[in-house]
Amino acid sequence: MAEDDHERLQELWEQYRISINDYDDLTLARWISQTLGQLKGRVWRLSHPLVGLHRLLATTAHKRAIRVSRLAQVPADYPPCSQCGAPLLPLVTRDASEDGLVCETCGASAVPFNELPSDLQQPLHEWAARYAPVHAVAHWDDAQRARSKDYDKAYQEAAEEAEQLLLELSSQVLPAALDHFPAIVWEDHDECLDVRPDDIIP
Ligand SMILES: [Zn+2]
Repeated sequence: MAEDDHERLQELWEQYRISINDYDDLTLARWISQTLGQLKGRVWRLSHPLVGLHRLLATTAHKRAIRVSRLAQVPADYPPCSQCGAPLLPLVTRDASEDGLVCETCGASAVPFNELPSDLQQPLHEWAARYAPVHAVAHWDDAQRARSKDYDKAYQEAAEEAEQLLLELSSQVLPAALDHFPAIVWEDHDECLDVRPDDIIP
C-alpha cells in the first residue's frame, strides 16, 4: 500500500469516526466494554469489523481522556495498557520481536518483547526471523534487485511467502497467546509487499 493509500484510508476512518463522536462518555465506555466482551477468547484479524469498531471507540475515548474502567465494567482479564491505562487489546505486528505487543488504543508498545511470557517469546521470535528477510525483498536496493535478475518475480514470490507466513502466525503461533491475554489481534496485511487481507485466506 502506497503512502497516499494509507493517508486516504486514515481519512476514511476519520469519516467513520464522525458518528462515534456523537456518543457521550458513558455510552462510549459501555460500548467499548461490550465490544471487548465480544472479542474475548479469539485470535482476530486487524481487518475484522469488530476489531475496527473497537479501535474507533477506543481511540475516540483515548482522545477524550476517558477512563473506560471507571465508567463501565470491563470484562475481566483485560490488563490495563502500560502506556495509556486503557483495557489492553494487544496487536502483533511483523515487528513484534522488536516492538513487543502494540496497544490498539494508543498505538504504543504496551508489552515489550522481553516481558512477554517465555512460551510466546521463542515462537514469535522464530517467526519474525523468518518473516524479516521475506519482507525485506520489498526494500531491496537497486544492486540487490539487479542481482535477482527478475525482481518482479522475486517480489511476487515474497508476497506469496508472506501470505503463508502470516497465516502460520495466526493459526500456529498466536493461539497460545490466549493462555495469557483474553484476545489478540494480528496485522493481516503487508503494505510493502502489497499483501491485503483478502490475499490471506486459508
Ligand atoms: Zn495503550
